[in-house]
Amino acid sequence: MTRGWRSPGSAPWAAGDPDKRYGPDVALVIVDLQNDFADPAGSLSVSGGATIVPLVNAEIERALATGAAVVYTQDWHPAHTPHFAQDGGIWPVHCVQETWGAELAPELAVCGSIVRKGSHGEDGYSGFSMRNPAGGLPVPTELDETLARGGARRLVVCGLATDYCVKATALDGVRLGYETAVLLDAIRAVDLEPGDGNAALEAMAVAGVTLIGSRPSPD
Ligand SMILES: [Zn+2]
Repeated sequence: MTRGWRSPGSAPWAAGDPDKRYGPDVALVIVDLQNDFADPAGSLSVSGGATIVPLVNAEIERALATGAAVVYTQDWHPAHTPHFAQDGGIWPVHCVQETWGAELAPELAVCGSIVRKGSHGEDGYSGFSMRNPAGGLPVPTELDETLARGGARRLVVCGLATDYCVKATALDGVRLGYETAVLLDAIRAVDLEPGDGNAALEAMAVAGVTLIGSRPSPD
């Protein structure tokens, strides 16, 4: 079952006609649409992950038609990192640099900058910041600078996964002063615990993120 969901967030401009969603001061941020998350054979495959690619491609087309920037984040880990269970973290090995799993989904149209995260053993959930594995302090990625250089003030976020990297990226977007919207039809949750995805949506709404579209049905 899906039901309509629209939060009173900071980006009502993004909630109307999809063809009017974008403009030169908007950036479409596509989070971690990579084989290990999106492909059913990926090591951290997100249920339904591959199904969002055509929707994301349609958004890319809309964005480019208006002069909006399109930016991709890419989880990009070394073979050993405290982020992985084998090295003391919580996640199966995924998105290792220069491997198939780290590649962006093959059907995804790539028409913009790629910002990598987690390259030096950091926990990299947000596209904007990573957590230093030694000191635990957040360190910025190049995303904010890339967006600022392109003149973006508003963000439309989609990708994988709702309850981790999409959520962290959208929350950081709001914190950094961007009017931020998330496309519900173009995200999917890991749901390590049942309900994680919905809790993430609530957290984003509370923080002022505008949620657009229908909630993904549990499957
Ligand atoms: Zn990762």
